[in-house]
Amino acid sequence: MFWPVEQSNRPPTLYCLIGLPVNHSLSPLMQNEAFKELKMNRVYLAFNIERIMLRKVVEGLRGLGVGGFNVTIPYKEEIMRYLDDLDESAQQMKAVNTVLNRNGELIGFNTDVEGVEATFRKRKIKVKNKRAVVLGAGGAAKAVIYFLIKENVEKIIVLNRTVERAKELIKFFNKLKGGETVLEAEKLNMNSLKKAIPKSDLIVNATPVGMYPNTEESLIPKNLFQPYHTVFDVIYNPLKTKTLHLAEEKGAEVINGLDMLVGQGAASFKIWTGKKPPLKKMKEAVVKTLEKGFER
Ligand code: NAP
Repeated sequence: MFWPVEQSNRPPTLYCLIGLPVNHSLSPLMQNEAFKELKMNRVYLAFNIERIMLRKVVEGLRGLGVGGFNVTIPYKEEIMRYLDDLDESAQQMKAVNTVLNRNGELIGFNTDVEGVEATFRKRKIKVKNKRAVVLGAGGAAKAVIYFLIKENVEKIIVLNRTVERAKELIKFFNKLKGGETVLEAEKLNMNSLKKAIPKSDLIVNATPVGMYPNTEESLIPKNLFQPYHTVFDVIYNPLKTKTLHLAEEKGAEVINGLDMLVGQGAASFKIWTGKKPPLKKMKEAVVKTLEKGFER
């Protein structure tokens, strides 16, 4: 695995993921599959990084001459201060998940929104003038909300356990957006769910509730789902969460986080290599692993 192109006598170019924790990440699998498919002498690893080491790690990666790297929680914002430049996606989102090493210059990008976009585009789901409720106010919620505003959703209600964080997120988007989307923030509880969900077309779970190993958990009771709902759970492990099971039983359209994951990874691959990502292979590798039971 570490010498992906066997006939090459040169060391491979390194790519990696940094974050904490990264043990559960499927990015190494997905990116190495893509490098292998395109016969590229490149390799992708993942590193758990303590916050206190972040600056040194970024300098180390620059010194090693890596081709690029991904950044995940909790460093998507903090990383920006150690980079040389940000492209428009990262500037707008004020968060970076992809870094390109361009001749020693580290440039930050954000491909999370592309993952969300790929999810909706693939299913030809139009969200213009629809109403959405988003559960969660972290990184995944930010990418989803950015996409929904760009697509002119009529209204988004953000429900979060820590309501202050939802309010912060709304403030961020109110400063940013030029569109007409109305944004509201409320504390996530049974009352706010009962109030918001019947009036919404799109329901998004952007929290880790229901993710492996807590696969029996869902924030939304079954009786709130209706056949007119489209329910998007950003979780991909398991591929069908409890939330999606309950929604499907009530006749709603359900979408998991797989295309978001593969979409953002494919966009990173394109930034690093300039080549068309082998999307099908990347996705197959992820699905195969998840179906086998990915439990780390
Ligand atoms: P994050 O930035 O840490 O945000 C987590 C959010 O979930 C926060 O709003 C948090 O609320 C809320 N939350 C956590 N535990 C909760 C609980 N028990 N009950 C209610 N709310 C809870 O994390 P993230 O990056 O947004 O990731 C969230 C999920 O999305 C994870 O499962 C992750 O694997 C998934 N994800 C998927 C993709 C993909 O490509 N499909 C991409 C990114 C993330 P507080 O503010 O109150 O803490």
